Amino acid sequence: MNLTQLVLASHNAGKLKELQAMLGESVQLRSIGEFSTVEPEETGLSFVENAILKARNASRISGLPALADDSGLAVDFLGGAPGIYSARYADGQGDAANNAKLLDVLKHVPDAERGAQFVCVLALVRHADDPLPILCEGLWHGRILHTASGAHGFGYDPLFWVPERDCSSAELSPADKNQISHRARAMDLLRQRLGLK
Ligand code: IMP
Repeated sequence: MNLTQLVLASHNAGKLKELQAMLGESVQLRSIGEFSTVEPEETGLSFVENAILKARNASRISGLPALADDSGLAVDFLGGAPGIYSARYADGQGDAANNAKLLDVLKHVPDAERGAQFVCVLALVRHADDPLPILCEGLWHGRILHTASGAHGFGYDPLFWVPERDCSSAELSPADKNQISHRARAMDLLRQRLGLK
């Protein structure tokens, strides 16, 4: 597919910068904020459904091909929760409350049952009604710690133990995390699908 521009279905400038760096310079990512301030309701039950819904909405509003990502933390012991509800796990009270709730829910769960993965799904639609969105999934396997550790990153990073680095993901430098994270893995697949590497 020959793309020069993609609208990213996110108002988050940090995310745009991070994904642009991962995508490379041959495709320019533009923010949906250039076209609208309204965010669609994420009514799907899965990362895939929500990513597609956001990409279609961004493409409809902008008239351009669009990329959306949906991500979160899936904890094995909790059947994949908080999953698509990761950002609002503690009823919208923010990262610290989300982390406190997760630690509390898992407080009697032993290490062997604390497996979890960060999940990222990227959906690319060529136009709003595209019947064949490009879907790329990135999983980053780890384990939920018993206490928070590290000061980088955001969200659940201080609770997420990264076995291949023997530290929490909040102890990784941002550049290091961006090499191995769920988003990096999904973006790697997308670059392959787009013939960018
Ligand atoms: P979003 O899809 O980037 O908005 O992420 C949804 C939620 O998932 C975030 O608010 C975080 O709670 C969690 N999350 C997603 N990716 C990460 C990550 O890389 N580190 C920590 N938390 C994450």
